[in-house]
Amino acid sequence: MGAVRTFTTASESGTEALGHQLAAEIGVAGLVLLHGDLGAGKTAFVRGLARGLGADPDDVSSPTFTVMQEYRGGATVLRHVDLYRLVPGFDVEELALEEFARDGVVAVEWAERFDEVASGAWIVRIGIGDGDQRQVEVTSPA
Ligand code: ADP
Ligand code: MG
Repeated sequence: MGAVRTFTTASESGTEALGHQLAAEIGVAGLVLLHGDLGAGKTAFVRGLARGLGADPDDVSSPTFTVMQEYRGGATVLRHVDLYRLVPGFDVEELALEEFARDGVVAVEWAERFDEVASGAWIVRIGIGDGDQRQVEVTSPA
């Protein structure tokens, strides 16, 4: 496991800004596994990632009928996956997330549904605090 850092954000825009900031560290490829309850701010974080990677943050939403959305615009592609609505029995392995993560950045919401222990992934855990406070724990790849 890599270095663990904990950030506190006080607003949705603060969580977006953190995603933006981390995009620079993640670079052009990598797997970002997002954990946190509904409303924690996972999608907000991905919006910041999109901005940091040169894509349009306004394109980022939680896909209802698509498992994976792609945002282009910068030097790389950001693929956004939300495993929340996966039907039981859906094989997450078939998404080949780690392969996609070799030629672009893949951000996965509800990563707890992705059983495989992904080595070399960024892990972002967002905890809900008082009011608009969020604790964002970021583990960088080993
Ligand atoms: P998730 O994708 O984890 O379900 P969203 O990013 O879609 O969460 O939504 C987060 C919700 O929480 C938004 O309504 C946002 O306005 C609110 N919110 C309040 N404080 C924060 C914060 N510090 N960071 C992110 N979102 C926040
Ligand atoms: Mg979401």
